[in-house]
Amino acid sequence: MHRWPAVAIALVMGASTLVVAQSTPSGSIATVRFNPDLLDKSIDPCTDFYAYACSKWQAQNPIPSDRPSWGRFNELQDRGEVLVRGILEKYSKDDPKRSAIEQKIGDYYYSCMDESAIEKAGTKPLQPTLERIATLRSKDEFAKEAITLHRDGIRAFFDFGSQPDFKDAQQVISAAEQGGLGLPDRDYYFKDDEKSVEIRKQYLAHVQKMFELLGDPAEKAAAEAKAVMEIETALAKGSLDRTAQREPEKIYHKMSTKELGELNPSFGWTPYLEGIGAPPLQSLNVAEPEFFKQFDATLKSTSLADWKNYLRWHAVHGNAAMLPSAFVSENFEFFGKTLQGTKELAPRWKRCVRAATGDLGEAIGQIYVAETFGPEGKERTQKMVDEIEKALGHDIETLPWMGDDTKKQALEKLKAITNRIGYPDKWKDYSTLKIVRGDALGNSLRSNTFAFQRDLNKVGRPVDKGDWPYPPMTVNASYNPLLNNITFPAGILQPPFFDNQADDALNYGAIGAAIGHELTHGFDDEGAKFDPVGNLKNWWTAKDKEEFEQRTSCVKDQYAGYSPLPDVKLNGKLTLGENTADNGGLRIAYLALLDSFAGKEPAPIDGLAAQQRFFLGFANVWCQNRTDQITRYLANIDPHSPGKFRVNGTVSNMPEFGAAFHCKADAPMVRENACRVW
Ligand SMILES: [Zn+2]
Repeated sequence: MHRWPAVAIALVMGASTLVVAQSTPSGSIATVRFNPDLLDKSIDPCTDFYAYACSKWQAQNPIPSDRPSWGRFNELQDRGEVLVRGILEKYSKDDPKRSAIEQKIGDYYYSCMDESAIEKAGTKPLQPTLERIATLRSKDEFAKEAITLHRDGIRAFFDFGSQPDFKDAQQVISAAEQGGLGLPDRDYYFKDDEKSVEIRKQYLAHVQKMFELLGDPAEKAAAEAKAVMEIETALAKGSLDRTAQREPEKIYHKMSTKELGELNPSFGWTPYLEGIGAPPLQSLNVAEPEFFKQFDATLKSTSLADWKNYLRWHAVHGNAAMLPSAFVSENFEFFGKTLQGTKELAPRWKRCVRAATGDLGEAIGQIYVAETFGPEGKERTQKMVDEIEKALGHDIETLPWMGDDTKKQALEKLKAITNRIGYPDKWKDYSTLKIVRGDALGNSLRSNTFAFQRDLNKVGRPVDKGDWPYPPMTVNASYNPLLNNITFPAGILQPPFFDNQADDALNYGAIGAAIGHELTHGFDDEGAKFDPVGNLKNWWTAKDKEEFEQRTSCVKDQYAGYSPLPDVKLNGKLTLGENTADNGGLRIAYLALLDSFAGKEPAPIDGLAAQQRFFLGFANVWCQNRTDQITRYLANIDPHSPGKFRVNGTVSNMPEFGAAFHCKADAPMVRENACRVW
């Protein structure tokens, strides 16, 4: 499932394929706890706290060849992938005694792992799609074709799905959004620095090679790739950039279906909306009207033959993972190696574990949770959430810059936040999804159709707050301003984020700061625009709003000054929400820790005071190594700052950090003009 509620905010990027183990059964990788021996005593924590906390870990943990980066999150993912592999292998034998769920996950994995059958089938499973595209007689047939492609999970033309109505967040409406690109972001089509020009050149070569793998002669394939690039560039031109997409007003344009037809008359919206499988609708959110205008112009100006090549490209691109190895390798060469700097393709079993998790996440999750996650994990986390919410409440009450009226509203919003911890109360019902042993590509297509239909079935109904955006194995967490809730799946509730054997100080610095981070998202530059029930509605007085913007502007400028590579700067506005959440989250977790002392400070452990252990617990989870390629890639698209700046940027805004490590007033980790929003 590729669509999230438009504005859900995660702790790190890319939640959907991240899986993890709660326990450490034999054969899996050992739990990694905080280790004071990994502190680099040759570095002054007041000069570079990240290097003090992480440089030894970085030296001992090079990036594995099948990854573009390696950090503490990935250690958890790896352990989880081993556990999920065990579950999938157990049920992959053709045993009539398997339950319906066990049959689905087992046969999905078996089919994905059966490389010889996939090689033998060649492109045959994709032929019906390719033939359908080849026989399109006019652009009038695009609406019908778009329905089939979208239901198959092929993201051609634009994206379509459901979302809560920004102005009436209890109700689900449908939404048409910009999409249809092969590169990760619209800016990739226009940036004119040397690296970006080179990436476009290689992308063009990649599209050509995929056409060649479908059997086209090189020259023809080159012309087809050029046509694809022209269409995608035209669509990109009408697309909003990432930073603008963080502004809810810019992605909310509710209009009648008639108005959409007038905006984009060259596409058959009436047949599309009638055939897509959503309840009949009067209106929908056309997230980016400019995109659909541009889509219309491109439909008119581009030949049917070129559009057919565009559709063929997306059909093969979207299904590359379940096609023969030549397609898989070529896809990896560009998207893994060139874009992210990954050296080697991950082993087949890992790719199949990730595919199964993506398509059948809660089916696997039910078994995963039963085997690994006990009620005590839920209880301790709930308690910590309560304490950190209390700290945020106290923080709001005592904010020097906010007036009483706005404070009252903010406290009301805080009180209304609901928590989802561990796993959903009700599992997704997969009974209508058919998984066929030996049909890897078909299973993937049917899973996409299932997810697409399930999403559209929500339209016209009240929001289902029990529906989770990702499976419980996920090593991530999120806040959704439209639901005003936070989600902490079982996958993240383990060391080094949450360690049952560790002291409170370490846990407050790690999972506590993560909880504080998600809560603060309700009050960052984006979240603060939504009210307690999730409606896009101003609850600020004009003066307080001005004060707020002045403070977020300080954070924006601070992070815009950071350079992860000599020629790459962070985008202060794109990362503003996450940086605000990091700063607020760490502060309220710290306040909650002080509260937990109840006047009696715990004795130092390993020579480290509780306050020092708190900041080390925080830094520890962000230790990471990255290829230059992925650093560049993420600077373009990731609203999160790299680990180094998440740590140093945040602690240097807290005088409490300087006090804990006895820093001099002019030390680099003590910012003269410290930023503080919350
Ligand atoms: Zn976040």
